[in-house]
Amino acid sequence: MKVLVIGANGQVARHAITKLKEAGHSPIAMIRNSEQTEDLKELGTTDTVIADLESNFDHAYHRVDAVIFAAGSGGHTGADKTILVDLWGAIKAIDTAERMGVKRFVMLSSMGTVDPDKSDRIRHYLVAKKLADDHLKRSTLQYTIVRPGSLTNDPALKMVKVEEEIQVRDNTITREDVAIVLADIVDRSSTIGKTFEVLNGETPIGEALATL
Ligand code: NAP
Repeated sequence: MKVLVIGANGQVARHAITKLKEAGHSPIAMIRNSEQTEDLKELGTTDTVIADLESNFDHAYHRVDAVIFAAGSGGHTGADKTILVDLWGAIKAIDTAERMGVKRFVMLSSMGTVDPDKSDRIRHYLVAKKLADDHLKRSTLQYTIVRPGSLTNDPALKMVKVEEEIQVRDNTITREDVAIVLADIVDRSSTIGKTFEVLNGETPIGEALATL
């Protein structure tokens, strides 16, 4: 599949590009900065499109079979960017997929979006992610929403716990494991229409995803 990775130079997305390539897909990187092109090519991208979620990015969706939304404004920016990127950018990415006829859409969301009021520190971010997820659920797209816990940069453990809502929340997951999940589910049709939380756990990734 030709998979457009939005936010392709992000830490999760860079792993996802490698995993998509290993799985035989053609990852297409959507990035803001053309200087990242060569580096991403070495990771395995088939093509690169320069585009920004804060402007029109229709051109990124040409000849694409699926979208993975892995962009995010990051903790170093203000609430204005949370609205413009994590909320409005995501909504535009969903609407663009519908308009351009790209049916498959995988959203990298976050644990905690089920009830943002339970968080003080990042409540506004969780509200933005929840509203984007809700918009995706109301769309006509074949969506899957992946909600990881706190991300770490440790090497992949390849063992996870996946559930619609995980009760034991004080746990983490490596960015590489999230990337393996994203690259796996893009063509795993049994995950279409599903929303799930994911942490490192005790079940091999493929086995865990098959239970959804
Ligand atoms: P990251 O390294 O900060 O990557 C985010 C990417 O989004 C960057 O490459 C950035 O591009 C891109 N981006 C930002 N604004 C953009 C725009 N206007 N248009 C296009 N691309 C834009 O994030 P990560 O660590 O891979 O995490 C990915 C996402 O996982 C986060 O954004 C968050 O929503 C979610 N998440 C995070 C945690 C956590 O513990 N951190 C937990 C659960 C879920 P540039 O390279 O140009 O800056």
